[in-house]
Amino acid sequence: SSIFQDIELAPPDAIFSLTARYKDDRSPQKVNLGVGAYRDDSGKPWVLPVVRKAEKIISSDPTLDHEYLPILGLKSFRDASAKLILGSNNRVIKEKRVVTAQTISGTGANHLGAIFLSKFYQQKVFLVSKPTWANHKPIFDTVGFDVREYIYYNPKTLGLDIDGLLNSLKSAPNGSIVLLHACAHNPTGVDPNHEQWKAIADVMEAKGHFPFFDCAYQGFASGDIDRDAWSIRYFVDRGFELLVCQSYAKNFGLYGQRAGCLTIVLRNSETATKVESQVAKLQRAEISNPPLHGARIVNLILNDPMLYAEWIDNLQIMSSRIKEMRKRLFEKLVELGTPGNWNHIVDQIGMFSYTGLNASQAQVLQEKYHVYLTSNGRVSMAGLTTSNVEYFAKAIDDVVR
Ligand code: PMP
Repeated sequence: SSIFQDIELAPPDAIFSLTARYKDDRSPQKVNLGVGAYRDDSGKPWVLPVVRKAEKIISSDPTLDHEYLPILGLKSFRDASAKLILGSNNRVIKEKRVVTAQTISGTGANHLGAIFLSKFYQQKVFLVSKPTWANHKPIFDTVGFDVREYIYYNPKTLGLDIDGLLNSLKSAPNGSIVLLHACAHNPTGVDPNHEQWKAIADVMEAKGHFPFFDCAYQGFASGDIDRDAWSIRYFVDRGFELLVCQSYAKNFGLYGQRAGCLTIVLRNSETATKVESQVAKLQRAEISNPPLHGARIVNLILNDPMLYAEWIDNLQIMSSRIKEMRKRLFEKLVELGTPGNWNHIVDQIGMFSYTGLNASQAQVLQEKYHVYLTSNGRVSMAGLTTSNVEYFAKAIDDVVR
């Protein structure tokens, strides 16, 4: 017998097992709306042309080797990342009040941010939106936080429950850590508007809550880098000390390369120096130093004006295809006279849409139509194409009648 004999079998990851079932499905009509990765209009993964270009430049540069990066990562990449997320002229950068560490994509940034807070922040209550990205709770649980939920989504309106949200923040213990999706909320696709962000900041300030921003979709959501970072920059302008997780999985299509950053904004540069040294110490014990290739690609593109402009074009292609799929799905449902209001399909933003379909409808979609979506009714718009959007609309029409 084994020392670990009595260990319990962990449940499979919902998204990854959905993908496995999709792969096993023999139907030529099958549609995968589970996966959180961009697909082009033929349903294929898309390597951004600007990324291909950067890779060619890198592979033909004889001065580049495969030595270790420093513990906190590639310096020019870290600096460019802070500028990208905070705005290049942000005074907190000039005042050297910013600490940026290169991380294992957005997941690693969430994790590093969480261990940093677990060590150096008093309050253990960690609030996440209900619902949130399926990995948030496990990440913060693992580090020992008391993870609770704040009201976010209103299933009746299929939109934001701003009163519920503000009340949850008000009734949480002072100084709670609050996870905020900077843009393109996963899984709902529902974001606060600017007025609502202001109201959230007011309560957070009054309660002394700590903002923990997760930004996995900058530029991918709207096609506009600044618009997608608005919430973060607004909180910074208001004087909050805060933390931001950046992922380059979606906006550079670098899913498997694990490129990302954790940025912490402090009130003064002396504190920033000390925080940086502690973040480096934590990173050393976790991963020693971060991976090279993805960071090199992003670094090259962010620091070269021509490549940068091309990247913005590539972002436009992805975000407009997604918006186009929202529009087509919406129009089809209206045309079919499908019962219910479908405005939320076009009002939501980003890759995901909370359709309002329930678990049993999702089940029927899978069994009868070979359409794969998670049981909470979330669909990835990236899985829709000009050739399957009508099929999907008709399938929805059938299951809701
Ligand atoms: N946060 C959110 C809200 C996400 O949706 C994702 C990607 N699904 C991530 C973080 C991190 O992903 P990655 O580790 O691949 O960058």
